[in-house]
Amino acid sequence: MRRITTKVLVVGGGPGGYVAAIRCGQLGLETVLVEKSRLGGTCLIRGCIPSKAIIHAASRYAEMMEAVAPGGHLGIHLTQAPSIDFLATRSWKDAIVDQLSGGVAGLLKRADVRVVEGRARFTDAKTCVVACAEPVAITAEHVILATGSVPVELPFLPFGRRVINSTEALSLAAVPNKLVVVGAGYIGMELGIAFSKLGAKVSIVELQDRILPLYDRKLVEPVHRWVKARQIDLHLNARARGMSETGEALVVDKADGATVELQADHILVTVGRRPLTQGWGLEEMALTMNGPFVQVDSCCRTAMKNVWAIGDLVGEPMLAHKASAQGEMVAEIIAGRRRHFDPVAIAAVCFTEPEIVSVGLGPDDPGAADAIISSFPFAANGRALSMNAAEGGGFVRIVARKDDHRILGIQAVGQHVSELSGEFAHAVEMGALLEDVAGTIHVHPTLSEAFHEAALDGLGHAIHKASTRHRNLGAA
Ligand code: FAD
Repeated sequence: MRRITTKVLVVGGGPGGYVAAIRCGQLGLETVLVEKSRLGGTCLIRGCIPSKAIIHAASRYAEMMEAVAPGGHLGIHLTQAPSIDFLATRSWKDAIVDQLSGGVAGLLKRADVRVVEGRARFTDAKTCVVACAEPVAITAEHVILATGSVPVELPFLPFGRRVINSTEALSLAAVPNKLVVVGAGYIGMELGIAFSKLGAKVSIVELQDRILPLYDRKLVEPVHRWVKARQIDLHLNARARGMSETGEALVVDKADGATVELQADHILVTVGRRPLTQGWGLEEMALTMNGPFVQVDSCCRTAMKNVWAIGDLVGEPMLAHKASAQGEMVAEIIAGRRRHFDPVAIAAVCFTEPEIVSVGLGPDDPGAADAIISSFPFAANGRALSMNAAEGGGFVRIVARKDDHRILGIQAVGQHVSELSGEFAHAVEMGALLEDVAGTIHVHPTLSEAFHEAALDGLGHAIHKASTRHRNLGAA
């Protein structure tokens, strides 16, 4: 067996692991990265990127379909319905994934990171064996665990045949005629909405009484309205029970006690993700667990000296940008810098229709009871109107501390609002006051002016909002 000894061993080439490895390389640390599948991990290969590509294609297709309808769309008429060659769409999406994965390989090479392809299995906390054509044992002074997460499987709906997970949904050869989505979290809603735009008849089954239950009702309302208008078949307070005897339908117990069978080509189960803690020798490493996650401190140190863990493996939020931030930080700590993972807030986005952004405290969160809640509707924003992006009741909302006006949280719902997430996160992280945002001249015409106006609203003098009265006016 070949043997490699290195300063840093990173296991997992997702946005946590590959960023950690690149930063280690930049800092002059001898680094080996082991990846069992493809560089880029869940995010680049079967998550963030492919899902956003499919969502984009679906939106373009849906817009063209609107232009076919009587009356057209924005004065544009298509005399013939567009057709979609979904295999070609899939190839386009795959090309983006290939480009990005290849880009990561190039960056790792440039940072002098040695990449070993294969599945790592630890024999002790600092040594792993990688199963590949020529097995290799790697021993390191520091180990960064970044094995990520996998979709949760329901015992009564095991993946296989018609029952699929998000990875398979992103690689379908054709748009299903009928799709049932089990679980109305962000992954299920993003994919359900995209396939509905592509022409599938979509049903959504959710145990709780609303979609996107992690977000407050007001924020989700425009998405809910879109889903209803689109005639997506919503089953709330409903429990998926298993496949029908024929294997062609999902059996669902509804809130009213009735049981229905939902016929589907595919049943997409998106009920959450769990950290990947099995199959790589975690049990050999004497780590402490925090529920299903590996426990880490604010430096991403595990209970074992010089073993670090980052990303989905260590807890919520399971988001790519959090994994990358932790990876970068751990590399710098290993290189001798003093760092802590202590963000004020981490922004989250749902790429639904319309999109949702949330950073920091919401109006219903503990700590916001006495806050100033201000808002501004996109219906009064020129850019939103000129992009036909104001429909459905979108808005920006700010939660600010009453005594000193420090911004504690920002949320928005509306088309394209994902692009505002950087400004929102920046404001919360920098501890901006309402006055700071109000005093920053925002470009006209842009959606970001709605953020400016929401800050003015919090100060009691929004310019383009007739209902602004002095001081706290309540939510949008
Ligand atoms: P991962 O990306 O899961 O990477 C872990 C890597 O480790 C994998 O490549 C795996 O093959 C490898 N590995 C595991 N075990 C071993 C082993 N024993 N040996 C070698 N290699 C191993 N997040 C966002 O921020 N924005 C989004 O829009 C978004 N959309 C998503 C959409 C979908 C459909 C899904 C499924 C997820 C989405 N996410 C999104 C979540 C995001 O993908 C994850 O939070 C992120 O990928 C976590 O990064 P990570 O590095 O911790 O783990």
